[in-house]
Amino acid sequence: MDPRQYSQSNSSRNEDSDGEQYTPRTPRRTPMACTFCRGRKLKCDGRPICGNCNRRGLACAYVPVAAQMQQRS
Ligand SMILES: [Zn+2]
Ligand SMILES: [Zn+2]
Repeated sequence: MDPRQYSQSNSSRNEDSDGEQYTPRTPRRTPMACTFCRGRKLKCDGRPICGNCNRRGLACAYVPVAAQMQQRS
């Protein structure tokens, strides 16, 4: 039994391949309002926690565009 072998299995070759998906600055972003602002027709500043939610202490949530396009009939 070698306990070292066991602990190594998690920490190699997971996220060092192609494609940087996380960029520190997003050069272009789609102007989007969070669910709260959209529901209230407020102007959303587009931050991870936008100003309106931040003031109210709400959890700011953004719904992806793909989910918006689903319309129930
Ligand atoms: Zn907002
Ligand atoms: Zn918000």
